[in-house]
Amino acid sequence: MDHLDPDQRQHLRDELERQLTRLERSMKISEAATETVELDQTAVGRLSRMDSLQNQSLAKNLAEREQAKLAHLLEALKRWEAGVYGVCTECREPVAFGRLLIMPESPTCASCG
Ligand SMILES: [Zn+2]
Repeated sequence: MDHLDPDQRQHLRDELERQLTRLERSMKISEAATETVELDQTAVGRLSRMDSLQNQSLAKNLAEREQAKLAHLLEALKRWEAGVYGVCTECREPVAFGRLLIMPESPTCASCG
C-alpha cells in the first residue's frame, strides 16, 4: 500500500474498524428479528402468516448481505495485517484511494472489480 499516505491509511483503517463494529451490532439486531419472526409463524390466520413469511425472507436477505459484508471486511483486515491491503487481488495493481474510500473492503481495483 505504498500508494497511500499515512493519513489515508489511518482513515481507511478507522473506516474498516468502524464498519465492522457497526455491522456486528446490526447483525445482533437482525438475529433477534429473525428469532421473533420464527415465533410469529405460530400465529393463526392466513394474513399474519403471509406477513411473517415475507418478513422472514426480508430478514434472511438482510442477514445474508450482512454475512457477505462481514466476510469482506474480515478479509480486508487480514490483507491489512499481511501488508497487501489496497493491492488488487486480481491484477496486483494499487487500488485507488477514492475507491477504497467508498468501499474500504474492496479487494479489487475498478477495472477488475
Ligand atoms: Zn485489478
